[in-house]
Amino acid sequence: MLLQSFPRVSLSHAPTPLEPLDRLRAAIGGPRLWIKRDDCTGLAQGGNKARKLEFLVADALAKGCDLLITPGAVQSNHVRMTAAAAARFGLKCHAVLERRVQETDTDYEENGNVLLDELFGSTRSYVPGGSDVAAACAAAAEDFRAKGAKPYVIPGGGSNPIGALGYVACAMELMAQASQIGVNVTRLVHGTGSSGTQAGLVAGFAAMRSPIAVYGVSVRQPRQKQEEIVFDLACRTADHLGHSGVVKREHVFADDGHVGPGYGLPTQGMVDALTLVARTEGILLDPVYSGKAMAGMIAAIRKGTFGDGEDIVFLHTGGSTALFGYKHLFLKA
Ligand SMILES: *Cc1c(COP(=O)(O)O)cnc(C)c1O
Repeated sequence: MLLQSFPRVSLSHAPTPLEPLDRLRAAIGGPRLWIKRDDCTGLAQGGNKARKLEFLVADALAKGCDLLITPGAVQSNHVRMTAAAAARFGLKCHAVLERRVQETDTDYEENGNVLLDELFGSTRSYVPGGSDVAAACAAAAEDFRAKGAKPYVIPGGGSNPIGALGYVACAMELMAQASQIGVNVTRLVHGTGSSGTQAGLVAGFAAMRSPIAVYGVSVRQPRQKQEEIVFDLACRTADHLGHSGVVKREHVFADDGHVGPGYGLPTQGMVDALTLVARTEGILLDPVYSGKAMAGMIAAIRKGTFGDGEDIVFLHTGGSTALFGYKHLFLKA
């Protein structure tokens, strides 16, 4: 099969459940809705990075490395899960945290993911927002190497052709699940940031000739820019898979209508969507990614963007740990 020749460790509880969202659907109307629970991947409170780290950590181990270095925003889910994966395999972990979100409070700086980074034994350094984090990681790697460590640098969000294989795996998993329960999934909606999730899904579906359309909701970049980075990585992921040329530009779509003022900054649509899903389904989304993705899906449904006969899957990429860094948004005095 597609992925058998790639080194992989086990870090996720897959297959993650595919469940109906009937009460949410009743509240908003429109097509049949499902949720793919990648918030339940099992590693350190779950989330999409577990799937990517299965391939990235295997590569680090194959290369004899003993330290994972990776960048992220201060409340990065990717850093939290990388720190946990490192602990699980007896590796050290150092995070380069970028102060991408200004005007934060002590919860943002110390609670949620930051608290867990510390608990998993990772170390961290900070760089200003807008820094070249790849260069900062390379410099950190140099310092650690001088002290005798063997560092392995994982790019932001684990998004390179190795990490994206995790979402090729998810694409295959979803197709098998859907056919098992006899559902003809037409579309998959999720939040797209560093692009590895969408790139892996797009490459996976294309390699398997699946007609499932991927609807990315951007959490950071304008549409053009986001689609470019996803397309570029999806093509490189297909190359890595040995399926060069299967990804077409029209396979890549990103809705940029829900970024709001910027990455990690709240929008009313996000707060409303997150609250609605909590109260109709008992499911926690997050303020940075899945809450904005859900706001995007709800808005698209209300606008009639999707056909009423479709079966739409919302990919829950995790992130609810960050809720504890955004307490002020949800706790009304
Ligand atoms: C990282 C992340 C995403 C975005 O995935 P990318 O592969 O970076 O595009 C979405 N949701 C959550 C909760 C994340 O942590």
